[in-house]
Amino acid sequence: MAYVYDDQNIFAKILRGEIPNDTVMETEHTLAFRDIQPQAPVHVLVIPKGPYVCYDHFALEASDAEIADYTRTIGEICKAEGVQDGGYRIISNAGEAGVQEVPHLHIHILGGRNLGRMLAPAR
Ligand code: AMP
Repeated sequence: MAYVYDDQNIFAKILRGEIPNDTVMETEHTLAFRDIQPQAPVHVLVIPKGPYVCYDHFALEASDAEIADYTRTIGEICKAEGVQDGGYRIISNAGEAGVQEVPHLHIHILGGRNLGRMLAPAR
């Protein structure tokens, strides 16, 4: 499958500085900022700076340096946001079935409260 990246998506605009964001952490290859509609006391979005649509795109095509930077930054954010002890959830929605709204890879880090079960039972 060929991945098609739409550079008009809202996170691409954030990366270009066209839209403000509440930055939590920034590294060479990664930007993390607070979700505009938080679902939990801690709700941070972590995005790679490169043009990757979703997690499998990134995992298959990003450089080792980008993947290492992204993964380490997620760990640093868990530490900095204080969710290591109480627990947290990482989610990355992809495509239609995953109900992905913004077509630039992002993982949600959620914590600060009991998040309940991951999914409702399948029907
Ligand atoms: P998803 O369904 O995984 O694509 O989620 C997209 C997330 O991006 C949602 O949780 C939105 O609240 C969040 N979001 C959309 N626009 C912005 C923005 N300008 N700044 C921060 N978060 C945003």
